[in-house]
Formats: sequence, C-alpha cells, structure tokens
Amino acid sequence: MAITGDEEAEMSEFSLDLNEDQLQIQKWVHDFAEDVVRPVAPEYDQSEETPWPVIEEAAKIGLYSYEAVAQFFSDPTGLTFPVVSEELCWGDAGIALAIFGTTLGVSGIVGNGTPEQIEEWVPQCFGTPDDIKLAAFAVTEPGAGSDVSSLRTKAKKDGDDWVLNGEKTFITNGGIADVHVVVASVDPELGSRGHASFVIGPDTPGLTAGKKEKKMGIRASHTGGVLLDDVRVPSANLLGGEEKLEARLARAREGKSSKTQAAMSTFEASRPLVGAQALGIARAAYEYSLDYAKEREQFGRKIIENQAIAFKLADMKMEIDAARLLVWRACWMGANGKPFENGEGSMSKLKAGEVAVWATEQAIQILGGYGYIREFPVEQWHRDSKIYTLFEGTSEIQRLVVARAISGVHIK
Ligand SMILES: Cc1cc2nc3c(=O)[nH]c(=O)nc-3n(C[C@H](O)[C@H](O)[C@H](O)COP(=O)(O)OP(=O)(O)OC[C@H]3O[C@@H](n4cnc5c(N)ncnc54)[C@H](O)[C@@H]3O)c2cc1C
Repeated sequence: MAITGDEEAEMSEFSLDLNEDQLQIQKWVHDFAEDVVRPVAPEYDQSEETPWPVIEEAAKIGLYSYEAVAQFFSDPTGLTFPVVSEELCWGDAGIALAIFGTTLGVSGIVGNGTPEQIEEWVPQCFGTPDDIKLAAFAVTEPGAGSDVSSLRTKAKKDGDDWVLNGEKTFITNGGIADVHVVVASVDPELGSRGHASFVIGPDTPGLTAGKKEKKMGIRASHTGGVLLDDVRVPSANLLGGEEKLEARLARAREGKSSKTQAAMSTFEASRPLVGAQALGIARAAYEYSLDYAKEREQFGRKIIENQAIAFKLADMKMEIDAARLLVWRACWMGANGKPFENGEGSMSKLKAGEVAVWATEQAIQILGGYGYIREFPVEQWHRDSKIYTLFEGTSEIQRLVVARAISGVHIK
C-alpha cells in the first residue's frame, strides 16, 4: 500500500518522546531523589520511621502539594505521573510512598467524589509546607484482602449522618493520616456493589490508629490499622452523594450492570502508577549492577566481559523497558478515557511488579556476596520490590482481572 502524505502526517503524531515540560519535571524529581532521598534511604529502612524531614522538604519545593499532583494528573498524555513516580522510587520506594501514599486517598476522592467534594477535600489531604497533612485509602480488613466483596466494615444512615463501624488493616498512612477515605458496606447483601466510600476528616471521634506493622521492605512507609468505633460523619462526606448511591444500589438490586464500584474504580486508576513505582526500583538495581559489573574484576577481567553477567544485564534492560511501555500505555489510556477492555491497568502493574522482583534478584546475583550485604543497596531494593506483587491486588488477582477481561468468562 502506498503511503500518502496525509497518512505520514497522521503516523508522525505517535511519539514516545517526553515533552519539554515532562523532561524538566523528570530532572527536577530525579535531582530530589538523588540529593535528598537516596542519602537517607538506609537510615529509614533501619528505623522504620516516617521520614518527616524528607516529606517537609518535598512540600517546600512544591513536590508534595495539591498543585503538583493536580498538574501531574491533568497531563493529557498521562505520562507525567508515571515518570515522577519512577524517579522518586529510583531514590527509595519506601520514602516515595511516604510522600505519595497520600495520592491513594486522593484517587479515592477524585474517583468517586463530586466536583464540590474534590475541591473541599483534596487540598486538605496535603495541607501546606508549614502544616503538612497526609491521606489514606482504607479498604483492606483482616478478613477481606483480595476478596473485597466480603468487607465487614458497615456504614449505617442515622438521621443526616452516617455511622461507621469496623476494622481496617495494612493501610498506608492508616491511623496517622489526617484524611481517611474508608470503603464500607452499606448493603452487605450486594457484596462489592453495596459498597460506598466515605471521607473521615481530622480528629473525628471514634477513629483510632490500630497496630503499626513491621515490614520486610518499603519500611519508611507507614502501614497500620484503622479502628472505627461509631464514627459519625455528615452525609456530605459520602463520596458521590446520596442520590448517586441510591441509584447505584437500585440498579444492583434489580441485577442491572454497573460501571462503578467504590474500591475497584480507585484501584483501576492507580494500578499503572503503582507499576511505575516498581519500575523505579528495578531501574535503580539495573543501573547499580551495570556500573558494578563494569568495575568488578575476577579472573583478570571485568565481570561484565562474561556473557553470563552481560546477558543478565541485557535481559534486565529489556524487561524494564517492556514493563515501562505497558505502564505508559495504561497511563495514556487512562488519561484519554480509553477503557481497560483487556485489563491493561492490571497488566501493567503485574508486569512491572514481577520485573522489579526479578531484576533486583538479578542485581544481587551480579554483586555476588556483596549483593547480600546491607552496606550495598541491592538487598534493600529486593526487599522493597516484593510488595509490588502483593498490594493493590496480588499478581494472582491481576492475572484474574486480565483473564476475565480477555475471555468474558468468570474465571475463579
Ligand atoms: C505494605 C502494605 C501496604 C498496603 N496498603 C494498603 C492501603 O493503603 N489500603 C488498603 O486498602 N490495603 C492496603 N494493603 C493491603 C493489600 O492490598 C492486601 O494485602 C492485598 O490486597 C492482599 O490481601 P491479603 O493480604 O488479605 O491476601 P489474601 O487475599 O489472603 O491472599 C493470599 C494469597 O491467596 C491468593 N488468592 C486469594 N484469592 C485468590 C483467587 N481468587 N485466585 C487466586 N489466588 C488468590 C493471593 O493472590 C495471595 O497469594 C497494603 C498491604 C501491605 C502489605
């Protein structure tokens, strides 16, 4: 087929180049990751404390702010936020999550709230550089992890208020956040279709912090329980509003299909960004082990001169680039309103998470015994990477989403 001028013009619109703005933002975040985050990463990995000075610094330069996140989210190519996430996690994934864990709560508000609710609550999730606030998104419970439909936290209408009771576990920023977005069941018989999201503002009586978890990796990120004991919020805190909820419940009771489920719509939007975080760790490990392999000598030659080592690095680069393409595709689709008909969001997080676990293990192998020693960062990166096959849906659950999407069969 002959290519006409018009077709050429159309095809040339496709580009994987980042634009000037994106390149500047990428460098800005990379410099922050290199100069501020990396130097303190081992310290917070050991202490498992929230890195407040780093969050403060991020707020001071405008990276931890409502405005920055709004700018990242509103980029029409969808690529700015994954680029930012990758760079920050290249610095340290635990600290990156301490900084951007708030965006999960924000996604819960943006994904389910009315424009008025978004305007009211999202700035409160960040606060100001002098008065930093955090947000959390609480779905998981002791008895409801992958099986989100079995949530036991209940929200009951009482006059003009809603009253929430239950227990959430493993929540990023859980109990230390100022704004908690909590998913609760308003009609247990409807399973996940009977869920609704509520915003619980600062100092709301009845909300207390549960156990803080000690973790294998991403230790700078706070993971804790949230206890809800007769937590009373006004009906204005029901995300999306009562009318929309009633209409959704009525459709579910009639057995009609519904596009939105409170927790699922948030996870769909955030999974590619979680994949981008995993990429940051994988790339850190790849770059570090490439440099190491070019320096380290055994048998009178650099270890990279052995195919056994060089091919590992070639495969690492290829897998990381492949994962990034899946992440960027999903982010581009999300930003351009294209539905994930084949589970593209899940696919991207699944691939990136598994590549991160695999690539960080390869990095340990390339460093040999030094890879196993804490003085070198790759063992921490391997520990950090593992969470990416677990949270925001395990790898098995991502495969389930993709398999169901491509087959139309309700695979178990
Ligand atoms: C550090 C950390 C931070 C987290 N942050 C948050 C947060 O901010 N908010 C939040 O709500 N949650 C959060 N979570 C919870 C996380 O999303 C859950 O741990 C995760 O969804 C898995 O649930 P589970 O741990 O109960 O495992 P389970 O669901 O009990 O799964 C156990 C195993 O069974 C497999 N499995 C389960 N069902 C199936 C099936 N149908 N088919 C095949 N395999 C299956 C799983 O893949 C897994 O391998 C966090 C968890 C951690 C560890």
